[in-house]
Amino acid sequence: MKDENIAAIASAFGNAAISIIRLTGKSVINEVNKIFHGINLEKQKSHTIHYGKIIVNNELIDEVMVSIYREPKSYTGENMIEIFCHGGVIITDNVLNTLLLQKVRMAEPGEFTKRAYLNKKMDLIKAESVMDIISAQNSKALRVAKQGIDSKLSLKINNYKQRIMTWIANIEVNIDYPEYEDEKSLGNDFLKPQLRLLAKEMNKLIDESKKNLIVLKGIRTVIIGKPNVGKSTLLNTLINEDKAIVSSMPGTTRDSVEGVVNLGGLFLELVDTAGIRSKVNHIERKGISKTLEQIEKSQLVLFVIDGSKEIDKQDLKIYNLIKRKKHIIISNKSDLPAKKNEFNSIQLSAKNKVGIDQIESHILDLFRLNDIDTRDVNFLSNKRQIKLLEKAFKSITSAISSIENLVPIDMVQLDLKSAWQELSEITGSTFQENLLNEMFKNFCLGK
Ligand code: GDP
Repeated sequence: MKDENIAAIASAFGNAAISIIRLTGKSVINEVNKIFHGINLEKQKSHTIHYGKIIVNNELIDEVMVSIYREPKSYTGENMIEIFCHGGVIITDNVLNTLLLQKVRMAEPGEFTKRAYLNKKMDLIKAESVMDIISAQNSKALRVAKQGIDSKLSLKINNYKQRIMTWIANIEVNIDYPEYEDEKSLGNDFLKPQLRLLAKEMNKLIDESKKNLIVLKGIRTVIIGKPNVGKSTLLNTLINEDKAIVSSMPGTTRDSVEGVVNLGGLFLELVDTAGIRSKVNHIERKGISKTLEQIEKSQLVLFVIDGSKEIDKQDLKIYNLIKRKKHIIISNKSDLPAKKNEFNSIQLSAKNKVGIDQIESHILDLFRLNDIDTRDVNFLSNKRQIKLLEKAFKSITSAISSIENLVPIDMVQLDLKSAWQELSEITGSTFQENLLNEMFKNFCLGK
């Protein structure tokens, strides 16, 4: 399968001056050469570009430029060709279809980068950064994504792994030659301080990575409140502000996301809880479970109350549902005479768009994002990586408590091995086909 030739349109879909069709695989140069008229591509050196025509059955398909990359010096590490053809949708399709009549099949999403990984042109951190770079929606997100491309992060993870491996080796020696070093002092004097230091470093990386994930992916936000307090009006005001982004942005659309709002580089993914739009008393009629599920999945709750009315039981009931989540209480209808309430809330008139700025700056404060400095970034940039780092962190803390509880050193050894394994999965130095397929299918075609 690895030797199969694959092709995909690598440029954006639509009418443009030029389109790029990318091919990779053992015999792509030969396959393209069969339909290319101008020069014998098989005799050309790597990293050269050539003018010619694609002709099939005496029919001119297009006039193109073809660049050649020979293995291993290419993005995928295999022989590669890039065809620059005229940019119309139909003509690009024609060129692609002509290629697919040869021994070439359509690439799956992410397959180019998957091959690059399989051919050891990059590790998983870098492969995933490629995807983040393509889908970055603002310059901050792009800067965060780009840091995965240089190998600093991989070096950091590899450094953790190396340290753990040294300890594993030390324990190994201790188990084999117990007279060589005392188990107790190996644990307490030697391992404990070093493990603590590593746990501290890991914890910091987890923290910073999580903050940055928010920069990259956006905050899933639900607007909750009784009927008629102004939730739809707030939703629409936020979405219709000119900084709002269309909801169908590729890569950001998730289930029931109504719109994405850009707050100075921070993305709020506003979730449509059915009751918001339809004005059905969602909490009462459809049962609490669906709403609870949305609250559970969200990272931020905007709890709206009607500031012109007394707080009632229903408000309190809803408040009890959300109080444990990160939330902001918004007292809407501030243009009407206010009724006192015990909530510490932000005043808003959704109708007159007064108070939106305060809500936005409150959200930025809540996520402490003002202080994120993306100039010298060193964070893991996706959930998969962060989850693994958290697992590794847990294994390390479990090793520490084992030492503290004087558990035999071979149990500590087990924790260290798990930590090493989990860290390996971050950079992909352990091979897991399932994991790979899962990850690369989210890529776009041609990458
Ligand atoms: P929802 O059921 O919570 O989604 O509430 P809506 O957004 O549909 O609003 C209910 C009613 O309150 C509508 O008649 C709105 O025009 C009105 N409303 C919304 N926001 C404000 C506001 O800031 N001030 C005033 N006076 N009325 C508002």
